[in-house]
Amino acid sequence: MPNECRVVDLRSDTVTRPTPEMRRAMAEAEVGDDVYREDPTVNRLEERAAQALGKEAALFVPTGTMGNQIAIKLESAPGDEVICEEYSHVANYEMGMMAAWSGCQPRLIPSEHGQLSWDQIQERMRPDIYYYSRHALVVLENTHNMGGGTVYPIEAAQEICDRAHERGMRVHLDGARIFNAATYLGRPAAELAAPFDSVMFCLSKGLGAPVGSLVAGSREFIGRALRVRKMMGGGMRQAGVLAAAGLIALEKHPAKLAEDHRNARYLAEALSRLPGIQVDLGRVQTNIVMFDASGTGLSAEEFSRRLKARGVLINPVNETRLRLVTHSDAGRACCERAMAVIAEAAEAALRAE
Ligand SMILES: *Cc1c(COP(=O)(O)O)cnc(C)c1O
Repeated sequence: MPNECRVVDLRSDTVTRPTPEMRRAMAEAEVGDDVYREDPTVNRLEERAAQALGKEAALFVPTGTMGNQIAIKLESAPGDEVICEEYSHVANYEMGMMAAWSGCQPRLIPSEHGQLSWDQIQERMRPDIYYYSRHALVVLENTHNMGGGTVYPIEAAQEICDRAHERGMRVHLDGARIFNAATYLGRPAAELAAPFDSVMFCLSKGLGAPVGSLVAGSREFIGRALRVRKMMGGGMRQAGVLAAAGLIALEKHPAKLAEDHRNARYLAEALSRLPGIQVDLGRVQTNIVMFDASGTGLSAEEFSRRLKARGVLINPVNETRLRLVTHSDAGRACCERAMAVIAEAAEAALRAE
């Protein structure tokens, strides 16, 4: 067994450690004070990110949450509603920040696997009359995390953006994993980002950087975003040491995501053959696999505990389901070891019943 597989951590693609190439670049990074906009490495990362997403400008932020919440703050007023999917990150995993920070409430739209259609949104919208709270902003998520890493069809996203714009709304893309979506579709990330007013993406997920995300949009939007970032405490100084790793993540690592997707597919197919486990293979498009372990007679939490005791880390997402995420620090050999442990745990649980 390769040494790095003694513990196989499939809880998230955020667990990747910086590569030796990243550590060298971090050590050698040219830096300056980024609050004065004088860090050449941060400036370069922001230019490259804007280019990659086809936007005028981009801003380096410590986390994806900050990037999303800057966009919500800039595109809404207190009392407004933000239209988003029921299990979206912005409404479920950002500590109620749209309410706490922007004074907005989410209008949650249920979906099958995280993708909305304009019809589903329109059904939940109210007429534009003064006594209703205003629909200011739509936020879409691509890939959709809790939907199982699922990808938006390009036409559906385009239609939502077009119709929302006609109604005077803005549309923000939570593209934490937009490069996974681009890899799946075989299209440039800029094409996926094109219809949106603003886009956030993470360097710290599958792209493998230790820290950082970017928010991108028009030059005017990013000018205002700079002020909000500072208000939120996100004005960093010699952040070039982080941006240096981010540049490698942005320029070299999108090409590595296809391998993560192949490993997710391998795991999903092997899981689907196990007794007591159910996977919807049609939903496995990128690097996330949701599976149901209730057929083993164990709760997802207990199943997760038993895997952990054997060195395989996979988190439960609710009473019956678990989520695993593949990444570049868990190659095929590690995934095979994880699979052997999962198979043993499932079979042992069924024997004990
Ligand atoms: C990870 C993630 C974010 C941002 O998370 P941070 O931990 O704040 O960087 C935003 N949206 C989605 C869909 C995510 O998966």
